[in-house]
Amino acid sequence: MATVSGIHHVTAICDTAGQNIAFYADLLGLRLVKRTVNFDAPDSYHLYYGDETGRPGTLVTFFAWPDALQGRLGTGQAESIAFAVPPGSIEHWADRVGRRGINAEEVERFDERLLRFHGPDALRLELVEAEVDTEPWAGGSVDPEHAIRGLYGVTLAVEGYERTADLLGTMGYDPVGEERDRFRYTVTGDAGSILDVRCRPDLRRGRIGVGSVHHVAFRTADGASQREWRETLAERGLDVTPVLDRKYFESIYFREPGGVLFEIATDGPGFTVDEPEASLGEELQLPEWLEPRRAEIERDLPMIFYR
Ligand code: ZN
Repeated sequence: MATVSGIHHVTAICDTAGQNIAFYADLLGLRLVKRTVNFDAPDSYHLYYGDETGRPGTLVTFFAWPDALQGRLGTGQAESIAFAVPPGSIEHWADRVGRRGINAEEVERFDERLLRFHGPDALRLELVEAEVDTEPWAGGSVDPEHAIRGLYGVTLAVEGYERTADLLGTMGYDPVGEERDRFRYTVTGDAGSILDVRCRPDLRRGRIGVGSVHHVAFRTADGASQREWRETLAERGLDVTPVLDRKYFESIYFREPGGVLFEIATDGPGFTVDEPEASLGEELQLPEWLEPRRAEIERDLPMIFYR
């Protein structure tokens, strides 16, 4: 039986692109690997951050919706995004975010130390001390000794966890522990292999908006394995989209039984298909089918006020 190999990327909604870049690139030290538009709504930015080349498992991405309402945290959503940092680096990070006036709290969970705080737009973020065998982006703003190594995982908030857990089993996740209302699952992968499901019947249904996670994408090797996933999920009665060309990967989307929007994305072709590795993220990139509309799209996009 096939398994997904961890999280490919997590996509959230932010207010302005400038504030987003200042936080994720400058403060967290991630590389802005792609500056493009939302392919389904090209009047808004889609920004991708990751390691040097934006490998799957290191990616967090944002739709910039400056005119949207603030989202409401609730069930049927991912409630937080966790990044992996090297053991012993929490103090460095507490100091780093503290100097930006961000209140961070150190907590322990499943015998691991983590720092939690809010990013821009009140998005919940965590830095978890974990042994991850990957290199950080050497060109980042953070000392490589402490720098983010990629995604650690996400926490989903659902009303009841059983049906979500059952689907995770199909996707290759194994249960590895529980702590209060939190059920932990892992899958084999080199980054982003943790999925926590929190059972939150006390919460209302979440409302998507600024500061919300839009969807969680999982990795599959290629188009052939993705088509197999599509069949497997459809056989379970889930409504799965056709394969969509996201230029840097191909995607299918479906809502898991707890209401969270999931995606399964191919590992390739990656972010160097339209610009060289050395200058990733510097210029606005458009897919071929939007290139004829470049002048209009550039005119309608908001200016990025950054520094
Ligand atoms: Zn996605």
